Amino acid sequence: MHCPFCQHEDTRVIDSRLTDDGATVRRRRECPQCGERFNTFETAELKLPAIVKSGERREAFDERKLRTSFERALQKRPVASHDVDTSVREIINDLRRSGEREVPSRHIGELVMRELGKLDQVAYVRFASVYRRFEDVQAFREEIEKLERDLPELEKLQLSLLGGDAVARKSRKSEK
Ligand SMILES: [Zn+2]
Repeated sequence: MHCPFCQHEDTRVIDSRLTDDGATVRRRRECPQCGERFNTFETAELKLPAIVKSGERREAFDERKLRTSFERALQKRPVASHDVDTSVREIINDLRRSGEREVPSRHIGELVMRELGKLDQVAYVRFASVYRRFEDVQAFREEIEKLERDLPELEKLQLSLLGGDAVARKSRKSEK
């Protein structure tokens, strides 16, 4: 590669070593023209897909959020944290392997259910019940919105009075 100091077209690798976790190669380079030395780092490109939420909203994959889902479901359950680490890693590897640029958030929910199913049945049921109820509220809301778009003005008003209330009540319930 070019020298970042003098732009000379070639630099020499004088040392090359793996980082402690083995995920990165660090190379020490020297420019034969100006004599400056610098480091380069080589890592595998394993970008994770973006998560598509409801309403086409997208957000970057967040490992911490994924871990939080596990921790909530596993509260006070006898599961070792290194087993949770393994599950999180499994999901991340699945996503990397898929090579997809984006995945629906529901797909992540299904992967979490699959992993919880292996770890602990109580946690699995906890997550599934909250997750499924959330999915239902989402589906219900989308249905109402679709109807509202399609109906004439008068009926639309009636529906928002009835439907709006029902949605609010239902989502409060799922926040517990
Ligand atoms: Zn140079």
